[in-house]
Formats: sequence, C-alpha cells, structure tokens
Amino acid sequence: RSSAVSVAPILTHLQKQCATPLPVLRHVADAMAADMRAGLAVDGGSDLKMILSYVDTFPTGNEKGLFYALDLGGTNFRVLRVQLGGKDERVIATEFEQVTIPQELMFGTSEELFDFIACGLANFAKKEGGKFHLPSGRKREIGFTFSFPVKQTSIDSGILMKWTKGFAVSGTAGRDVVACLNEAMERQGLDMQVSALVNDTVGTLAGARYWDDDVMVAVILGTGTNACYVERTDVIPKLQGQMSSSGRTIISTEWGAFSNGLPLTEFDRDMDAASINPGEQIFEKTISGMYLGEIVRRVLLKMAEAGALFGEYVSEKLSTPFILRTPDICAMQQDNSDHLDAVGAILYDVAGVKSDLSVRKMVVEVCDTIVKRGGRLAGAGIVGILQKMEEDSKDLIFGKRTVVAMDGGLYENYPQYRRYLKEAVTELLGLEMSKNVVIEHSKDGSGIGAALLAASNSKY
Ligand code: ADP
Repeated sequence: RSSAVSVAPILTHLQKQCATPLPVLRHVADAMAADMRAGLAVDGGSDLKMILSYVDTFPTGNEKGLFYALDLGGTNFRVLRVQLGGKDERVIATEFEQVTIPQELMFGTSEELFDFIACGLANFAKKEGGKFHLPSGRKREIGFTFSFPVKQTSIDSGILMKWTKGFAVSGTAGRDVVACLNEAMERQGLDMQVSALVNDTVGTLAGARYWDDDVMVAVILGTGTNACYVERTDVIPKLQGQMSSSGRTIISTEWGAFSNGLPLTEFDRDMDAASINPGEQIFEKTISGMYLGEIVRRVLLKMAEAGALFGEYVSEKLSTPFILRTPDICAMQQDNSDHLDAVGAILYDVAGVKSDLSVRKMVVEVCDTIVKRGGRLAGAGIVGILQKMEEDSKDLIFGKRTVVAMDGGLYENYPQYRRYLKEAVTELLGLEMSKNVVIEHSKDGSGIGAALLAASNSKY
C-alpha cells in the first residue's frame, strides 16, 4: 500500500491541531487587543512592547523639497532620494541604490559599520542632479529606517537594545544609533542630518498614508513580522500625560512576540526549542516567512521517519533544518499539473527525495495546513488591532473606510497565504463590516515613507 496512506493519520492529527475555526480566531483577536492594552499601560506590561515611535505628525501631501532615506535592516542597506512637489506634484522624482554589507562588517566594530554606511551615502549624494535640488541654506535631511530593536527616545534618537538577524557589531548596543551615524557622517565630511528615526513598519504606514488618509495600520509579513498603527495619545497611560499636538501617535506593536492562545503543535515546540531565541517571538514563528517552510520540513521528516513517506531511507537533506524554504512550499502550492511534476522536482532538488503522485498530494496538504494556519492567524491579529482601536473610538474604524497597508515578501508572493488572511478577516468581521476594511499592498513604501517622515519632521 502507498506510504501516503500510512501517514494519513499524522496529517489528520496535524490538521486538527492547526485548525483555526472562528472561536480560535476570535480568541486570538481578543487576546491581541487585550495584550495591546496591557502594553500601553506600562512598559513590560505585556508580551507586546507597544513601542512609542514619536511619530505624531504624518505626511500631509504638502511636503516640498529634497529628502533622503537610509534603510538598514538586513544584509543590504538602501539609500534613496525623493524630490517632493507638494499637493499637486507630489513625488516628482525618486532614485535609489542598494549596497551589500560585507560579511566581515557584520562582526566588526560600530565605527567600521557606520563609516561604511556613511561612505555609501556620501557616494550616492555625490550623484545628485537632474530633478533633485536642495534649497540654499539647508542641509540634506534623512529619514533613517533602522529595523533592529531600538528604544526610541525622540523622533530623531534611539538606543540600540541588541543586534539581531546575524549582526554582532561591537560597541553599538546601548548607544544612540543616530549619534553613531552622525559621527560617521562627520568623519566622512558629509553634511547631512537625520530628522527621523523609524522602523520599517512605521515607514510603511507613513508612505501609504501619504496617498490615502484612511491608512490606520501597517503590517509587514516578510522574513519576520510586525505591525504598527495610529493611536490616540489620551489612551496611552504609559505616556503619563505627554500628549502630542496632533493627539495621535504611531505605536509599533512588536506583535511577533504575541503568544496567547495560538494553536501550536509538537513541530512548533521543537522548532522553537532549537531556535536561537527559545520561548520568544512565538507569533512570528507561526506566521512569518522565515519559519513556514521549516515547520513543513519538520512534519515531512516525521512522516518520513514514522511512515516511510519517501521510502525506507530518510534523506540527509530532509533532516537539515531550514533546507525547505517558504518560497519552496509556495512554489509547490502553485503546481496545477496532473502529476504535480513541480512538487516532485522541488522535493527531489531540495529534500533529495523521490515521490509518487499520492505522496506529492500529501505534501501539498501539509503545506496548505501550515500556510492556512499562518495566514488566518495573521488575519486575526489584524482584526485584534482594529478591534482595540474601535473600542476606544466608537465606530471610527468599522463604521467607515479603514485601510491596512501590507508589505513584505511573504504577503506579496504567496497567493494562498493572502487569501487565507483575508478570509479570516471577513469571517471575524462579517461580510458587511469587512467591506470597510481595505487590505492594501503597499510595495516598498517604507523607503519613501521614511523620507516623508524626514520631511514632516523637518528641522526647517
Ligand atoms: P525581509 O522581511 O527579509 O526584510 P522581504 O519583505 O522581501 O524581506 O521578505 C522576504 C521573505 O519573504 C523571505 O524570507 C520569504 O520568507 C518570503 N518570500 C520571498 N519570496 C517568496 C515567495 N516566492 N513565496 C513565498 N514567500 C516568499
């Protein structure tokens, strides 16, 4: 008999454990809203850090002039310039460049890293011309997107808590990253200044809101995940009465750390235990791109070991953590051919296993189970944020058009994930109310968003 039949009980059990029926979604949304509230009450009051962004003036569309953005969040940094023309002309021109950070600088000193960045910025600034011009008497202003955990202290300063994502640079933790950049720019003789320090979620929100005043939430679903939203300063107890002039501010939820009531399996627990941050970022480990493929691999490995899914022999590749990536499971799910040839090819190339049609079907079912859970839980999280906002501002969220700006490679490239996310939102809100919630892809909005925040927080 086919090995797919013998592992069927494992799939059934997995589907049961990963199920996200409406009561589970509702619990997650409610818990998200409650955790947000607890994190706004006091620092450390919840899994959700609810970080103050100090962004309380949003781009209006009236911004004019030349602004720069610098984005450091991974192995590349991006520099961008934008010439803004105000209400009618809007974005007149943009230019950007991407620079790869040499491996050794990720393990070097803070000065070396920031000198490298300042040097890249200086080279880029040198090439300014054409449609870009700075009014006389002004410095070039920068919106600095820095996607590492920062304790923000003002719109243009923030202390690095720790490096993540493979960076181990000495001498930056505990320091103001804007000061680090300013000092490096000075060493390079580069006369520019940082006017806004933001994380990528906040940049995405600002970028999307420039085009659409109804944008209230931004979500990143890429390698990792985070969400931010526009909050009223009078419902943030930990601000202790420091109101912004607009009465509003952007809060970065850091929702990757959420963990309440998630339907988890032995595969999630094992993956977490083997991770570099066990017990942390549980929501992120359930819904984001870095992990979906790895969860699937762990399920397939169990099926291979317990039920000989791929024959007697368990391939070494299949035993290798993170060998199966989310783009691979995504590609497998796009295979509409009769014999699932692409699925077979990917399994062979990536995991070193041969498969017949029934096995391939089983593998696609596993992918779908994990992706469905991820997408639906992300949807429930979004509803949780909206629900929290609605509770404090009766009918100002669900009673009118509200836009959620989405970005990140997972959301952008995985159609099934996107569909499951949207279905969960509709199930939770009902067809009528969900029509007011518009989930919009805002591609690469965070770079221009950061430049816009430099403009709306300009020193001039
Ligand atoms: P990052 O989050 O690393 O800053 P991105 O937003 O571009 O960058 O997201 C990259 C992530 O998106 C990858 O780690 C991967 O998980 C996911 N991804 C990229 N391409 C695909 C794809 N074709 N299908 C599914 N997921 C993808």
